[in-house]
Amino acid sequence: MTVRIESLRIGGEKVGADRRGDRVIAVRNPYSGAIVGTVPKATLEEVRQAYEIAHAYKPKLTRFERANILNKAAALVRERTSDISALITSEAGLCVKDSTYEAGRVADVLTFGAIEVLKDDGQTFSCDLTPHGKKRKVHTLREPLLGVITAITPFNHPMNQVAHKVVPSIATNNRMVLKPSEKVPLSALLFADILYEAGLPPEMLAVITGDPREIADEMLTNPRVDLITFTGGVAIGKYIASKAGYRRVVLELGGNDPIIVMEDADLDEASTLAVQGSYKNSGQRCTAVKRMLVHASVAQRFTDLVVDKTRAWRFGDPADAKQDMGTVIDEAAARFFESRVDEAIAQGARLLQGHTRVGALFAPTVLDRVDPSMLLVHEETFGPVSPIISFANIEEAIQISNGTAYGLSSAVCTNRLDYITRFVSELQVGTVNVREVPGYRLELTPFGGIKDSGLGYKEGVQEAIKSFTNTKTYSLPW
Ligand code: NAD
Repeated sequence: MTVRIESLRIGGEKVGADRRGDRVIAVRNPYSGAIVGTVPKATLEEVRQAYEIAHAYKPKLTRFERANILNKAAALVRERTSDISALITSEAGLCVKDSTYEAGRVADVLTFGAIEVLKDDGQTFSCDLTPHGKKRKVHTLREPLLGVITAITPFNHPMNQVAHKVVPSIATNNRMVLKPSEKVPLSALLFADILYEAGLPPEMLAVITGDPREIADEMLTNPRVDLITFTGGVAIGKYIASKAGYRRVVLELGGNDPIIVMEDADLDEASTLAVQGSYKNSGQRCTAVKRMLVHASVAQRFTDLVVDKTRAWRFGDPADAKQDMGTVIDEAAARFFESRVDEAIAQGARLLQGHTRVGALFAPTVLDRVDPSMLLVHEETFGPVSPIISFANIEEAIQISNGTAYGLSSAVCTNRLDYITRFVSELQVGTVNVREVPGYRLELTPFGGIKDSGLGYKEGVQEAIKSFTNTKTYSLPW
C-alpha cells in the first residue's frame, strides 16, 4: 500500500497536504510499525473556517436526493470492501475478518439511513379529546438543527463509528464537522470521499484532523455548534459535558459488559458467545464481553470450554486473512492490558491462557478466580481479556453485574423465563441480549447506555435521527 499523504476536507477543498514536520500526524500500522499515511494538524483558524462554511450553507436536498446519495454510497462501500478493509486493517491493526465485517456494517448504516429518510414520522393529534377541546389539529414536523453538529469519534471502529454520526446527519439535512480519532483518521477521510463521490454537497460534511489538545475546545465551544455527538471514553465524555454549556450533547461512552451464564445454559453456546464477544475486534468494542459471570455449579465446565476455544482463536498478522484477531491499537495499549492482568494475578486471579505480548499483539487471555473488586474488571479493560468470576445465585449475578460505574449492554445465557424477566428488569444497562453477545444489534436499532456509559440518549440510525432534529409543533383549525 502506498503511503497516503492526506488533507483536511473543508467546504469541498483539500487543505494542508503540503504540511510537514510537527504539523502532521503520522499514522502507523500497529503490527509492522510502518507509516500508513499522514494527516495535517488543523489550525484553529481552519477549524473556525470549517464551522463558518458549514453554518452558511443551508442544505436543500429532498428526501429522494438524500436517499439516493446514501444508497449510492452504500453500493460504493460494498464494491470497495476489500480496499476499505485493507485500510482499516493497516491503520488499526484489526484483522481482515474484522475489517471486512466493519465495511459491511458501514454499508448497512448507509442503507438504513436511505430507508429512514423516506419516512416522515410527523404526528397528527386531534384536539377534540377532552371536554375543553376544540375542533383543531396539532401536527409535528421534524427539522434539522439551526446550527452545526460537531462529531468526535474513537479509534475502535475507524469507519463505522464515523458512519453512525455522518449518515443520520445527512439523512436529516444537517451540517457536520467531524474529527475522527487521530489514531485512525484515514478511514474517516476515505468514507467522506465516498460520500462526496455519491453526490453529497461537501459543505454538509467537513473532516478535521489534528491534535485534540489544540482543536477540541474550539469544536466544543464554537458559537456555530448546536449539538455535540461524541463516542469515546468516559473521561473525555465527561469533560465534553462540562464544556458544552447550552448545547445538546449525545455521549456514547465506555462499557464493562458482562455475559451472565446461568446453571441451565447451553455451555457450548455460552462459551462460544463469551469467546467471540471477548476477542472480536481485538476486544476493542464498547460492548465487548469484559466480564464473564458464571454460576458456580457450571463454572469449571464453562471455564474449560472458554480455555479450549481461546486456544483455537488464531491471532497474528492482521493482514493475514486466516487470522481471527490482529493487534490492539498500539503497543502502549497492549502493555497496559499486560499490567492490568499482572495486577489481577498478584491479587489472586489464576492465569489459564494467553498473557503474552509482542509489540501491539496481545494474546487472548483467560483468567479465573477473578474478584469483582480487581481493577481488571472494576474498570473497563478495552482488550482481548476474558476474566471469569463465579457467583452463587441470580441475586449475586445481578449485584456483580450492576457493581461498576458502567451500564452499556449485557448478555444473558439461560432459557428460564423467570431469570430472563429479572435480568431484563434489574440489570442497569441499555441493552439485555438473551443468548447473544452484548454487542448484538442492528445498525438501525436503538443502542446506548446509562450511568457512566451515556446519558440515555440512544444511537442507531433511527434514534440518531431524532437527536439530530428539532420537532416543530404547529396547529391548524381543520
Ligand atoms: P478516547 O475517549 O480516548 O478518544 C475519543 C475521541 O476523543 C478521539 O477522537 C480523541 O481525539 C478525542 N478527544 C481527545 N481529547 C479530547 C478533548 N479534550 N475534547 C474532545 N475530544 C477529545 O476514546 P478511544 O480510546 O478512542 O476509544 C475507546 C473508548 O471509546 C472506550 O472507552 C470505548 O468503550 C468507547 N466506545 C464507546 C462506544 C459506545 O457506543 N458507547 C463505542 C465505541 C467505543
